[in-house]
Amino acid sequence: MIIAPKTRGFICTTAHPDGCAQQVKEQMEYVKSQQKIDGPANVLVVGASTGYGLASRIAAAFGAGANTIGVFFDKAAEGTRTASAGWYNSAAFEKQAEELGLKSFSIVGDAFSDAIKEKTIDLIKTELGSIDLVVYSIASPRRTHPVTGETFSSVIKPVDEAYTNKTLNFHTGEISTVTVEPATEDEVRQTIAVMGGEDWKMWIDQLQAAGVLAEGATTVAYSYIGPEITHPIYKEGTIGQAKNDLERVANLLNDQLAATGGQAYVSVNKALVTQSSSAIPVVPLYISALYKVMKDKGLHENCIQQMYRLFSEHLYRKDGTHEKDRLIRIDDWEMRSDVQEEVMKRWAALETDNVNDLSDLEGYRRDFFQLFGFEAKGVDYEADVDPNVAIPHQV
Ligand code: NAD
Repeated sequence: MIIAPKTRGFICTTAHPDGCAQQVKEQMEYVKSQQKIDGPANVLVVGASTGYGLASRIAAAFGAGANTIGVFFDKAAEGTRTASAGWYNSAAFEKQAEELGLKSFSIVGDAFSDAIKEKTIDLIKTELGSIDLVVYSIASPRRTHPVTGETFSSVIKPVDEAYTNKTLNFHTGEISTVTVEPATEDEVRQTIAVMGGEDWKMWIDQLQAAGVLAEGATTVAYSYIGPEITHPIYKEGTIGQAKNDLERVANLLNDQLAATGGQAYVSVNKALVTQSSSAIPVVPLYISALYKVMKDKGLHENCIQQMYRLFSEHLYRKDGTHEKDRLIRIDDWEMRSDVQEEVMKRWAALETDNVNDLSDLEGYRRDFFQLFGFEAKGVDYEADVDPNVAIPHQV
């Protein structure tokens, strides 16, 4: 069938297998063009199919030659419905890994459940023996607690006070003012339950109890801080409360892993267009302005450049020393004062009429469609493609 993008708000309900494969190949080629990472042999990535998790998996496999297990929640094609982008990304990843003789396995299911954790542990025992690095990169709107059965929903809201700022409809280019009402106490609790550290700790506890973490095993989860204008909706909002919890858990996990020489980190990453970030009010306009400024200054990075830097300069430093800070800042270029000053100057002036001059709306849109395999280089979108693609080593 011919696959075209079908958008509904900030989601696209179709994905293109060849476009996703092309994007994975480009990320792989970037990593292969860089210096080899003296890194982990066996890596587990929870939330491995898109965004930062996919880039982590690619950096580990093609930068360090690691065997990988990816856990993610994606759907195969069915009837006239295409598979989700993460499905096609993972199929393409596995094909490339296989060609290089690397072991790679994919587990599709709910990472929050005990069943998926048990399945992953069994797979490690039979195929890899042990894991050197656990990357925790889940972004989810919901979580069902494996013990209590309660289903939590996360919300992106300020805490205490309503928040008003400019926001962008990136499909039409229209800038308007949005007001987001504050979260209730229960919404804060539920967001922490979904996006905080409890599930990350459950993964590490269960992996450790099963004896499948190698000596010196390291773990990392991802966070965001960002500029003051987004603090009410992010850093100080519901999601920020969840990220504080993630940092709290990183300290606990670090103590827990220290006995075997391991570490736990939170890496603060740059704001980038992903399926999760496009759903946050205000943030897409900030990202458009940021892209423009960082591209003009030659500082722009995508997920893969960020993850290569995380692996090569922090987790597996070239000088062989350990990263000292629990909180790793690879948002350093985004937060540089010259970058932020320029973004804020533009922010004050941004309106619908000048959005294309003052921000990189075009780049934002292209990145958004590329998340779903559209607008990729060299792909014939008029060609008939089979949406049914198998993931070679799905377990
Ligand atoms: P994303 O939406 O691209 O990826 C989320 C991943 O989680 C996907 O692989 C998805 O399949 C998986 N997932 C979701 N629910 C799952 C479930 N129940 N079971 C198994 N897998 C599940 O998101 P992203 O933007 O790459 O975010 C990853 C992490 O990075 C998050 O912690 C996010 O807060 C953080 N982060 C993102 C940005 C940004 O700008 N995008 C910046 C800094 C930090």
